[in-house]
Amino acid sequence: MSRMRDALPGRQVEWVEGWGRAAGAAGYVYRPTNVGQIREVLELARSRGVPVVLRGAGRSYGDAALLAEAVVLDLSEMNRILGWDASNGVAQVEPGVTFHDLWRSVLADGWWPEVVTGTMTPTLGGGLAMNVHGKNNWTRGTLGEHCLELTMLLPSGELRTVTPETDGELFHAVIGGFGQLGVIVGARVRLKRVHSGRLEVHAVAAQDLATMLRLADDAKNRWEYVVGWIDAFASGGRSGRGLLHFANHVKADEDPAAQESLRAEAQDLPARLAGVVPKALLWRFLKPLTNRPGMRLINAVKFRLGSTIGNDKRYRQTLAEFSFLLDYVPNWERVYLPGGLIQHQSFVPVAEAEGVFARQLELCRRAGLPSFLAVLKRHRPDPFLLTHAVDGFSLALDFPVTASNRDRLWRLVADLAEPVVEAGGRFYPAKDAALPGELYRATFRDGQLERFAAIKERTDPGRLLRSALADRLLLP
Ligand SMILES: Cc1cc2nc3c(=O)[nH]c(=O)nc-3n(C[C@H](O)[C@H](O)[C@H](O)COP(=O)(O)OP(=O)(O)OC[C@H]3O[C@@H](n4cnc5c(N)ncnc54)[C@H](O)[C@@H]3O)c2cc1C
Repeated sequence: MSRMRDALPGRQVEWVEGWGRAAGAAGYVYRPTNVGQIREVLELARSRGVPVVLRGAGRSYGDAALLAEAVVLDLSEMNRILGWDASNGVAQVEPGVTFHDLWRSVLADGWWPEVVTGTMTPTLGGGLAMNVHGKNNWTRGTLGEHCLELTMLLPSGELRTVTPETDGELFHAVIGGFGQLGVIVGARVRLKRVHSGRLEVHAVAAQDLATMLRLADDAKNRWEYVVGWIDAFASGGRSGRGLLHFANHVKADEDPAAQESLRAEAQDLPARLAGVVPKALLWRFLKPLTNRPGMRLINAVKFRLGSTIGNDKRYRQTLAEFSFLLDYVPNWERVYLPGGLIQHQSFVPVAEAEGVFARQLELCRRAGLPSFLAVLKRHRPDPFLLTHAVDGFSLALDFPVTASNRDRLWRLVADLAEPVVEAGGRFYPAKDAALPGELYRATFRDGQLERFAAIKERTDPGRLLRSALADRLLLP
């Protein structure tokens, strides 16, 4: 940090981490509350020759919102909803507004975000920069597909408002552009009409990977939401077995208590488990089980219950219960401390998915590093320049990081990535911490990276905006 101390004397240095807590970096953190303050920070950084990394809620698993010896421009306090039109479901937001802030403000009017992530804590700015997807990616696409207009502040200090119609090239590059082209300071997003605060859910078990993929594919046009959990410890003929959950919004005439269920308070996740154990403490109970034998047991029990008493069950859940399952156990990432966790999410075209995912599960087992949590989703392509989506499936694999497995794990990630590249697949930087840059770059075969470099040259010729992720993935 010596260069920085000289560059910004008197400014407090903070340690900033990725959500998985396996990566961190010290930087000078600024938390502006308006565009003028952002402009001042960019100007200061440029004048001192210090790069800037943009940060939302810090919910990317790895190093997307980190950079050593940099100014960390944290947008989370620029979090006002500036406009809301309940007649057409369009919201004007500042970048630090979270999914949580948004849905709580609009649900009583009968609206819900078109796309939400597995946790409600990310910001809309961070979500657009990664172009996040939900469990309804096949039917509704990515967050960027519901963005009508973006306002961005370029490192030069120029404020620019873009829409798909006025500057489609820039619009489709900034969304999913990992915060490398400019600071998103405002967005207009379109939400969707809902008539109840509940979803109709169908739970189904699958005895192997082929069945998982077939059931998910069959369900994709009948159910808006399709998500699968895979027991990554199962081997042989049971490899890839898991549970699928499909869901649709409950229709206007199907919920007599619709008005009540649309109240934000009716969506609150319970603070206690079974009415007794405070959920804030739950991660401490899980910690002793967060090792290979413990997770093998948890995965096996979950599958056994889901494939017997839970199989082929239909029930209703609130929107928050179904959408934000990962918020059920607050701070659950702490079970992985001190080493933290990483995730690897690859996207593979339909025809190749079974072969690639079977190989990945096998590679993990052979390396003695089975994934503790494995999640399957169905995706469709989208028009964004560096999109991660394909017409296919994604498999997200969580791994604990320890002092003794770190090198092996990083090698495993490279091994997992190779068949994805061969199959014409993609990777998702929001979840990544370990992918070698050459493998990431190899997934773009139609000049996308060159086009991105040309846009970067126009919007940020001095390369003020950087991140550890962009450096690692060899982005321009
Ligand atoms: C438990 C959990 C579940 C998740 N589930 C999903 C899921 O279902 N689907 C999915 O797609 N993702 C998922 N994610 C990933 C998460 O949604 C993304 O990483 C998202 O980008 C995080 O937003 P953030 O506000 O925390 O941004 P950060 O992580 O802080 O930053 C993300 C990127 O955006 C850039 N950035 C931030 N703000 C701005 C801005 N205002 N202007 C320009 N660039 C900016 C940063 O530089 C960085 O590159 C999940 C994450 C967690 C922890």
